[in-house]
Order: sequence, then structure tokens, then C-alpha cells
Amino acid sequence: MNNVPDSAVSAATTARPNHDREFVHRILAARQPSEIEAIRSAAEQTLLEHCGDSVRLRGLIEFSNRCVSDCHYCGIRRSNRTLKRYTLTLDEIVGAALWCAQKGYGSVVLQSGERRDARFVRFVSEAVTAIKATTRSEKLPQGVGITLCVGEQTPETYAAWFAAGAHRYLLRIESSSPALFARLHPVNQRYASRVGCLKTLKSLGYRVGTGVLIGVPGQTLDDLVDDLLFFRDIGADMIGMGPYIPHEQAVLPGSEPLADTAMRLQLTLSMIAATRLLLPDINIAATTALQVLTPDGREQGLRYGANVIMPQATPPHARHLYTLYEGKPCLHDSAEQCAGCLDRRIREQGRKMLKDSWGDSALSPLSVRAVPR
Ligand code: SAM
Repeated sequence: MNNVPDSAVSAATTARPNHDREFVHRILAARQPSEIEAIRSAAEQTLLEHCGDSVRLRGLIEFSNRCVSDCHYCGIRRSNRTLKRYTLTLDEIVGAALWCAQKGYGSVVLQSGERRDARFVRFVSEAVTAIKATTRSEKLPQGVGITLCVGEQTPETYAAWFAAGAHRYLLRIESSSPALFARLHPVNQRYASRVGCLKTLKSLGYRVGTGVLIGVPGQTLDDLVDDLLFFRDIGADMIGMGPYIPHEQAVLPGSEPLADTAMRLQLTLSMIAATRLLLPDINIAATTALQVLTPDGREQGLRYGANVIMPQATPPHARHLYTLYEGKPCLHDSAEQCAGCLDRRIREQGRKMLKDSWGDSALSPLSVRAVPR
């Protein structure tokens, strides 16, 4: 294993698809600090060569915590009856997006719990249309880029939102292992349906993001290897993945122990590095959940090859109600405070913010290879 770092560098530049499984397995299995540092450095170098040193920003607007789904791991799951539910008004959503545009964030993410009723579908269309109209400027002639993260929907709904102006969609597969997926969700939430949604989104022309939970009790290294190959085969344009963090109202079934914080942090960072080395051109987020494990978690994510950050833009009165997991950071900071803090944190990593740009990655084709399983 001593020469993993060298092979990591060379394999990243020669891209041998048949060896991808072995390649990413060796990255995830690395435990020696010197091996890990060499992998990190190779991932960072690959990022700088393929995507440059700018960090792309997507202002995160968590516009509703109402949810019809019941994912076992999620704090806003339907059966959490202790949570006060909210939906932002159209004006609040558009105001938050306009603030992002004025800050130079070229893109926003509209995220919420899952609903599929006609009123909700219309509301999201209206929000997208209004954000586009309001954020057009000389610097952003087509308004901010809009990513939706609103779960599984019908093809018609995805098409309507695309027509309204959203051009990216983030839908995590959560785990590419059908068995683990089934343990994480109630029986009516199906793996095949999630994969079908990703393919539909891709065929409609969206830039498609996916991702997984890392460090779920019972998850194996091979599961994570399969996740990376899934990202490759589904033709992901972006990846947003993060550590699993418990929530007391969302207890996972089973009695497998939870890996400690250091282990989940390193696994997440190694997954970021492996993704960057396997898929050099795509956008990878350093997600907020990393910051829960350690205060500089997102900065570490950037150093391991991530190039996207999603600064908080949810109005503070709602932010504390969008609690997917325990320990959500920056609950009481204003969006303005978050922006100042972020600018400093990014510059301290020797990186710069990409301002007034959508910050898309090169488009990944829908792979001709079959998605595993
Ligand atoms: N309902 C939509 C969906 O499923 O895509 C969007 C919102 S969902 C709350 C956003 C993401 O939060 C999920 O994809 C999930 O991975 C993440 N999440 C939920 N609970 C979590 C937890 N306990 N730890 C870490 N991430 C979690």
C-alpha cells in the first residue's frame, strides 16, 4: 500500500475505466497519514488543473420543511410530529435569491421537504419564474442559475420546472446499494424510482447532481466504492454528499454502531478526493454537514478537491426549523455574517470566489454504461 499515492496520481491522469473499482477502493482504504496526504494533494492538483482555483457559490434557500416522505435518517421526516412546519412566502424566497445575486453568488439552491401536490408544483414554478425575472442584471443577463432540490417528482413536474428556468437538480441516491437504500427508507420509497428520476432529469436537459450519505451504520467500504462507480455511470454533473449525522427524532433501524466523528470525517474527505480523481471535471460540494463534524470541515473539503460551497441564505427565522440533523451550524448568524465569514474562509485556503457566474461544470453525457444493478 505504500505506493498508493503515486498510483493515485498516475491513475487519475490515465483514466482506465476497467481499473476504477480497484483504484477508488485503494483510495478509500488508505489509512496512513502520508498516503492520505498524497491522495489529498493529488485530488487538489487535479481540481486546480481541471476546474481552476475558484469556488462556485450556490446560496442555499431552505424554503419549506413540510415533507410527505419519511426517510428514516432525516429530521424533517413526516413522522417527526415535534417539529413546527413552515413554508416561506414567495416574497421571502425571491428576496433571499435577490440578496444572493447582489452578493455575487451566481446561483441559488431551492431546497425543501418533499411534496407533490398541484399547489406545491405551481408554487415552485412561480418561485423559479419570479427569481429569474428579479435577478436579471447586466452581470447576470439570464438571472441567477437555479438548482432545485425538492425530491422525487413526475416527469411532467420536472419538465415544468425546467421550462420555468431551473437548470440544475440535486437528487441524492443516498446509497447506490439497493439493500442499504431499503434500510434507510420506508417500503414505499423505492430505489428504482430514485434511479428513474435521475435518468428523467438527465434526459430533460438538467445538470444533475447526486450524492450519498457517508458513515451510515452498517455501510461497508464496498458500498462506498459502488457509490463512486454509480456517480460515474449515471453521468453526474455534480456531487453533493456528506456525513450521516444522527437526529433524535430520526432513529435508523438496526443496531449497528455509528462510526466515530473522526472516522466519518475522514471517510467523507476521502470520498471527495476519490470523486475528484475519478471524475476530474465535475462540480463537488463541500457540504454544510462537514462543518458539523468539525468547524473547518468545509475548508477541508475544498482542500480534498471540492469546488462548490452553498452559503446559508435561508431567513434566520426559518433556518432553525430546517433541522435535518443535530448540530446545524450558523443558526443565528445573518446571511450577511455568513457571507463575510465565507469570503475569509475561502481566501485562507488560497482559493477565490467565482462571482456573478452560474459556475456550471462541463456537461457529462448520460453514460452508455449501465448503471450498476
Ligand atoms: N427531500 C429532498 C430530497 O430527498 O432530495 C430534498 C431535501 S433532503 C432533506 C436533502 C438531503 O438531506 C438528503 O438528500 C439527505 O442526504 C440529507 N440528510 C437528511 N438527513 C440527514 C442526516 N441525518 N445526516 C446527513 N444528511 C442528511
